[in-house]
Amino acid sequence: MGANFWLQKYLNNYFLLDTMKPKVYFASVRTEESLITHLGKMFDLAFPNLLKKDDLTAIKIHFGEFGSHAFIRPVFVRQIVEKIKENNSKPFISDTNTLYKGHRQNSVDHLNNAIANGFGYACTQAPLIIADGLWGRDYKNVKVDLKHFKEVKIGNAFVQADSMVVMSHMTGHLASGFGCAIKNVAMGCSSRAGKQQQHDSSKPKVNPKQCISCGKCVANCPVDAIAMNEKALIDQNKCIGCAECVTVCPTQAIAIMWGGMGKKEMQEMMCEYAYGATKGKRVGYINFLMNITPACDCWPVSNAYFVHDIGILASSDLLAIDKASIDLVQKSAGNPNSKLKNPKTNDKFKDLWGIDVMQHFSYGKKIGLGSMDYELVNVN
Ligand code: SF4
Ligand code: SF4
Repeated sequence: MGANFWLQKYLNNYFLLDTMKPKVYFASVRTEESLITHLGKMFDLAFPNLLKKDDLTAIKIHFGEFGSHAFIRPVFVRQIVEKIKENNSKPFISDTNTLYKGHRQNSVDHLNNAIANGFGYACTQAPLIIADGLWGRDYKNVKVDLKHFKEVKIGNAFVQADSMVVMSHMTGHLASGFGCAIKNVAMGCSSRAGKQQQHDSSKPKVNPKQCISCGKCVANCPVDAIAMNEKALIDQNKCIGCAECVTVCPTQAIAIMWGGMGKKEMQEMMCEYAYGATKGKRVGYINFLMNITPACDCWPVSNAYFVHDIGILASSDLLAIDKASIDLVQKSAGNPNSKLKNPKTNDKFKDLWGIDVMQHFSYGKKIGLGSMDYELVNVN
């Protein structure tokens, strides 16, 4: 075989690889059919080899903090439960406990909250399991050997599940810029200690001029890091960076002080946790680009959606599905009656939170989390 043969073989392989972009299936909300039916069709298209007989399959979801209402509707979860059962696998619906005080800090409150928000068996037809145990201490260390972490702390039920379907709601986010599938597995599958590690670069400070001494931040800090004299004052040595005080302050007197490369660092840490949570596991991702709020479902507050409803995406590539989701949001018209300062901006996440979200993708690609390129396949 001559040199031409090998040159031709190299070129064929090069161009073949170049065209093998992961598929991201997309069902637009602009349909005359039910989106629930589309979701079922997308599941079959996107995940032909995801499940094996008798798999214990975790459906990872955020149940929504009590008082929020933009979270994924339980009827969509029931459709996924039905598809998993059709494949002779055994679904359970799961999340981990939170760092901050609220209705999801321990498994008892968390399950009551999930049922109150509509995720009980009567609607979803699957049991609920809090993945990191009663107090968020039931986790396994998963080896990753990456830049920030050698090991990550993942909720035990997620480690033990045979397969996972990750259902994520696209929102903005005050610390990471946006929240969707990467955040759902990074923060959402980690134990409380794991969440604490990822928040470590995001410590807030109080602007005394804006503080009205209401005491809400003091009452909500999970580690009693805030003292109240005339004004609130945060002890940076005690603070674990959970950002709960930022969310409860009525006057926006508390802001995260990003030191050095803090914002980028947090995105990188989340990528490493996402890598550990999905390592060696069969995982399918479904993103919901509907009710797209400026802040995540941990906030028990309402706000106008900053873009219109877009649709649902499904893929087996974590990075590709979040990149496709970001691209669709950025392309959509900004809502002039929302928190966006400039609805015509090219970068809505930067407008909302001053954060460039692209580090998720460049670092995620570097550590093998998935592909930044994708092929969008319309299923409507
Ligand atoms: S002071 Fe720190 S630990 Fe306390 S609520 Fe604020 S961010 Fe969380
Ligand atoms: S919640 Fe805000 S306004 Fe109230 S005491 Fe804390 S910093 Fe001050």
